[in-house]
Amino acid sequence: MRRPSTAARRSRGIVFRLRAALPLLLLTACVARTAVTVVDEPVAVPQAVVVAPALEGSAAAELVVPEPVVPESVAPEPVVPESLPADDPTALHPPSQACHYTTYQWSMKRKTGVNRRTISKTFGELTGDEVDPNDARCSVCEENQVWLRPADHGWPNIKPVRVCDAYASRLGKALEEMAVGGAFTLIDLEGYRPGRTRGAVVDGLRTQMSNHGYGTAVDINARHNGLYSGCNISPVTLEGIRRCRLAVGGPWDPTARPSTSVVRGGIPYRVMTQSVGWKWGGEIAGGTRDLMHFSLTGF
Ligand SMILES: [Zn+2]
Repeated sequence: MRRPSTAARRSRGIVFRLRAALPLLLLTACVARTAVTVVDEPVAVPQAVVVAPALEGSAAAELVVPEPVVPESVAPEPVVPESLPADDPTALHPPSQACHYTTYQWSMKRKTGVNRRTISKTFGELTGDEVDPNDARCSVCEENQVWLRPADHGWPNIKPVRVCDAYASRLGKALEEMAVGGAFTLIDLEGYRPGRTRGAVVDGLRTQMSNHGYGTAVDINARHNGLYSGCNISPVTLEGIRRCRLAVGGPWDPTARPSTSVVRGGIPYRVMTQSVGWKWGGEIAGGTRDLMHFSLTGF
């Protein structure tokens, strides 16, 4: 039998080496694919996966390090359903349905709610700012609100709050997204609260319904994300906020409390702006920086 030529032996040798290297190449491609997926959802993947030893020092490793994630506590594994029902775009309540709510006005002098009264009417009788000017599906009526139970969405120790029924499923999903990864910790949540706590002041009392009055606003971790006034700074920084006046809630210090603070680009910010479509009170026009607050308009 003829011995194969030198060229043929060399080419067979290359094929053999390629075959031997194939599993390694496939594995590398597989890890790289996983890593690239991580770029979209850095929060959803345990930190250990983000810095895979095989990728250290490579371009891919640089791509996938999203931001420093320092979990202070390990959140419970949330149950995330495959798909959630879409919000009902026709969730308008019939004009004949009964509506009631208990409202109050914020006293600038006494720093508390006054003039508490309960109003009963029908949805058809709602007037002026009793209906959300930015979304007619939501109103001041308790019958327009549903209970959002954080315990059902990855946060067993947070008490239920009421929110407008048209946004309930989106907000539930948002809470689940905040729980994934354990880098963010929810310590308190506020929703529906039908008080006139903003706008013009007449006789020392606020006259305009808050977005909380329609269930189209939530406050996240008020104790660590206060409302500041005299604070026309953009973006909000630790240096800048020191010159503002803390009016409601606790002081904001994302350096000292990274896992409970709301910051631009952080987990609650991304979830609330992208998954719910609401705006952050830390980025509104004027001199108020309401760092705990997310709503349809940011106000
Ligand atoms: Zn608020």
